[in-house]
Amino acid sequence: MAAALALSVAGGFVSWADEHHEHWRLFIGDHTLPIVHAIDVETGETLGRFDINNYASLVASDSGRAVFAVQRDADQINIIASGIEFEDHGDHRDIKLSSPRLVDGVIEGKVPGHVVPHGSDIAVFFDREDEFRLFKEADLLKNQIKPENFSNIAAHHGAAVVLGQHILVSTPNLEAERKPEDLPPRYGLRVLERGDGHQIGEQAVCTGLHGEATSADLVAFGCVEGVLVAQSQGNEPPQIRMLKYDDSFPEGRVGTLLGAKSMRFFLGNYGDDKIALIEPDSSAPFRLLNLPTRRVDFALDPANPQHAYVLTEDGNLHLVDVLKGEIVKTAKITEPYSKDGHWRDPRPRLAVAGDSIAVTDPRHSLVRLIGLDDLAEEKTIKVDGQPFTIVAVGGDGVSH
Ligand code: ZN
Ligand code: ZN
Repeated sequence: MAAALALSVAGGFVSWADEHHEHWRLFIGDHTLPIVHAIDVETGETLGRFDINNYASLVASDSGRAVFAVQRDADQINIIASGIEFEDHGDHRDIKLSSPRLVDGVIEGKVPGHVVPHGSDIAVFFDREDEFRLFKEADLLKNQIKPENFSNIAAHHGAAVVLGQHILVSTPNLEAERKPEDLPPRYGLRVLERGDGHQIGEQAVCTGLHGEATSADLVAFGCVEGVLVAQSQGNEPPQIRMLKYDDSFPEGRVGTLLGAKSMRFFLGNYGDDKIALIEPDSSAPFRLLNLPTRRVDFALDPANPQHAYVLTEDGNLHLVDVLKGEIVKTAKITEPYSKDGHWRDPRPRLAVAGDSIAVTDPRHSLVRLIGLDDLAEEKTIKVDGQPFTIVAVGGDGVSH
């Protein structure tokens, strides 16, 4: 209750009687079954079990009001209303809770791939279509599936990100040699005017573009030659620059990225057993950190950008201090989950939920909640089947 007390004193609008709530929900996709579970972190109670068409990867919107269940092999995306909403009241924010629910309408398209929320915009890329689509989160939650379509030149495994009045989108390399059944590789990044979709300037080179993340006013993309960073310039087209890998780096590239919210910082993979700490404003923007074994998943703590969490295949969870650039704590969380075998084999995934990190343990039908600071297991939550993909939504607010 310390936070509520502080608010009362500082703000004056929040009275002693108001209740200060922290509430987190986990959305968990099964490895093979077409099911998403919604779970209350505090009680461990199941709040919903949603039947969809196929197994899904999950993406939460920036506001946390929507969770997207991306079903690549079923050509559709379901929208789940998380039932958690925040409303800004100036000196505080209100939290409103309702039951999570599956929206009736679905987003359909051939082989949905990267879904990238940015603010209220949701950019959806389909790997087997020559157009990508934008949606408004609020429309989707009202069951209004109203896409705005934009050309992506030709089908490829790409991504688009809305940045203010502009859209950043990957480009296919149609010149590259390939088998007729293969999609073209990615070659670069184009900037489009959001209003009419016309291209602004030349494309920026980003060979094999894969992985995208937002941090403060920046959007970054992983490339073979480095990390391409686009910086918002208000209504002007974003400024784009390439952060090249150091010549001394071992072989590898960034292909997955996470972005910190409150400071300009990105965390990327680099090879199987390293992570890249990326500070775009530094003269030496990359620091590589060696992991004891291969990486299974990683996460940033949204409330504390200095802390990153990495789970390795030996079942150890590592707390990384990104300023120091070192592992400061390690704890054994699960049995080993080898990285040998198929990339999509059931292995744990991470999601930070308040003061805990939730770790799916598909072999034991569990979600393990681990304390963020001491890495000690607080409790386990039983989830039927093989809990696999996971996102957390929530936070704290006042209800009055
Ligand atoms: Zn209020
Ligand atoms: Zn991908």
